Amino acid sequence: MKFKPANNIQDLQYFGEFGGVNPSISDSSTYTFLSAKTMFDTFEGNADGCYLYSRHSTPSNLYLGEALAAMEGTETANVTASGMGAITPVIMQLCGSGDHVVSSRTIYGGTYAFLKNFAPRFNVKTSFVNITNLEAVEAAITPTTKILYCESVSNPLLEVADIAALSKIAKKHHLKLVVDNTFSPLSVSPAKLGADVVLHSLTKFINGSSDTVGGVVCGTQEFIDELRNVNDGACMLLGSTMDSLRAASILKNLRTLHIRMQQHSLNASYLAEKFEGLGLKTVYPGLVSHPSHKLFKSMMNEQYGFGGMLTIDAGSLEKANALMELMQEKNLGYLAVSLGFYKTLFSAPGSSTSSEIPEEEQAEMGLTDGLIRFSIGLDADIERTFEMMKACMIELDIIK
Ligand code: PLP
Repeated sequence: MKFKPANNIQDLQYFGEFGGVNPSISDSSTYTFLSAKTMFDTFEGNADGCYLYSRHSTPSNLYLGEALAAMEGTETANVTASGMGAITPVIMQLCGSGDHVVSSRTIYGGTYAFLKNFAPRFNVKTSFVNITNLEAVEAAITPTTKILYCESVSNPLLEVADIAALSKIAKKHHLKLVVDNTFSPLSVSPAKLGADVVLHSLTKFINGSSDTVGGVVCGTQEFIDELRNVNDGACMLLGSTMDSLRAASILKNLRTLHIRMQQHSLNASYLAEKFEGLGLKTVYPGLVSHPSHKLFKSMMNEQYGFGGMLTIDAGSLEKANALMELMQEKNLGYLAVSLGFYKTLFSAPGSSTSSEIPEEEQAEMGLTDGLIRFSIGLDADIERTFEMMKACMIELDIIK
């Protein structure tokens, strides 16, 4: 049967201990054992179904992890306190001193900063490449490379990674392909295309209510066990554990992700077409003008569309800032970083979420001053939203 991620989430049944339709929340940091021997076995990782201490795992975190693993089609998953709390342990687990990473140059600014400025302290170096140039990717691989890192749809330029082709390169050179799928949950299933590890910031679309941070690592049982190992597991030892209360609330929001993604995609697709029609430089994977439109189409789970993220170029930072302020004044969205909220969010990445990337490198990758990144909301009347946005652009002389 065809892999259908939303069905996989729906088919999981977890009941509360009194028959509740939602699982009970494990409100404990530690767990009792009836015998000292079982406690010892649990420490050694040999007592399935026993809980030890909540930094290691909790029933609530396991429920959420299993639902996300079902969504991504991986054996299992480990939820974490934030997206960065998922990304950094994965890199530290897979690389030691002297190892090397080949990474897309267009990635979330925090991940870029970690690879560029922080990991070298542990003698882990990174080569940043244009991920859409497969020859450049392969040429950057060295005998010490351990990870090929990318985002399915990149932040903020919305470049699309050819996951199947990258997976072939990774396999050929015995690397792990690590894919951050934060921008395209449900739409793209990286593990099905050959990714070894799939990451998410749950803070964004998956939770969808901009009220918490969270992350997840989806992968094989073996890799997740390694991350949780009490002796040398990066998740266990670096301590970026999710709280059970949050895991329970994110699991409830996950149940409506498919409906939200469909509406985000529908609205973003409508606005992208209209913006392009106004003559604005618009980037959206659903537009035929997107250089990787066909590639995205070939990878996507069609019913969820091309996602909720788009960018336009307002011409200059001043115009971008004025437009965002005016749109906020008209209650068309919020001038805020992050994504996946019911309300449209917009920011100028060059001076916010990607400001960690030096200006010359921003210019080289095509990140212009006037770029506005939109996370399109769940507006019921997107035609009205467009007319109001267009009026703002006319008022500011961005379009005629
Ligand atoms: N990955 C992507 C693509 C992101 O956009 C972000 C945050 O903006 C992160 C990872 C980091 O996630 P968090 O803020 O939950 O740590």
